Amino acid sequence: MNRLVSALAFAAHKHRDQRRKDAVASPYINHPIALANVLANEGDIDDERVLIAAILHDTLEDTETSEQEIIREFGQEIASIVLEVTDDPLLPTAERKRLQVEHAGKISRQAKLVKLADKICNLRDIASSPPAGWSVARQRAYFDWAKSVIDGLRGVHPVLEEIFDEALRHRP
Ligand code: ZN
Repeated sequence: MNRLVSALAFAAHKHRDQRRKDAVASPYINHPIALANVLANEGDIDDERVLIAAILHDTLEDTETSEQEIIREFGQEIASIVLEVTDDPLLPTAERKRLQVEHAGKISRQAKLVKLADKICNLRDIASSPPAGWSVARQRAYFDWAKSVIDGLRGVHPVLEEIFDEALRHRP
C-alpha cells in the first residue's frame, strides 16, 4: 500500500504541468488514477505491481522520467511493465500505432492488463468528453484502432474485456 501511495505522489509530480486533451483540459493525473481504479475496482485486481505500473504508465512516454529513475524508485519488475506499455518516441505516430497492434499479444500479462485499462479509460473519455478539435471521424478511428489492439490480447481478463466491449458500444 505504501508503495502505491509513493507511485501516486511520483506520478502526480511528474505530470504536474500536464493536462488531458478533453475540452475542459482535466488534470493529467486523473488518467493514471482512473486506470488504477478500473483495474482495482472493476477488474478486482489486487496485484500491487499492476496497480503501480498503471499509475506510472505514461511517465516514460509523456514526461522527462527515465527508466533508471523508475528502477531506482520502484524496482526492475515494475519498470519493465511500464516499458512494455511505452511507445518508442523516435517513431512516427502511425508506426507507433501499428506496433501497438502487433505487440499486444506478446507483452506480459501485467502489461496487457495495464493496456486494457488504458484503452477502457481512453474510450470512456472520448465518448464522454472528446478531445478539443477531434472530428467524429478521428474519434471513430481511435475506437477502431483501440479494438484492434485489444483484439490482440484477448483472453487475459474476461471481465475487463467485457468492460472494454461495453465502452466500445459508445463509439461516436
Ligand atoms: Zn494512458
